[in-house]
Amino acid sequence: MDTTTDDDEPTPVQLVATCHVEDCPQCGVPITGPYYATPGTTPPLYQAACGGCGTPITDLVPAAE
Ligand SMILES: [Zn+2]
Repeated sequence: MDTTTDDDEPTPVQLVATCHVEDCPQCGVPITGPYYATPGTTPPLYQAACGGCGTPITDLVPAAE
């Protein structure tokens, strides 16, 4: 019922994350998924961790429509 907050729920953005750790089984494999920006970051900062090696992924690009 609270209509004073217009950005209460963050909107996920479809991004393609690619791991570049050579020993990782998912190295070089682009993985598309929804990501949420870290609250309070401008420009929006997105964080992703590789499912294969757990390394934070910095190669994040917007997914194609
Ligand atoms: Zn990895």
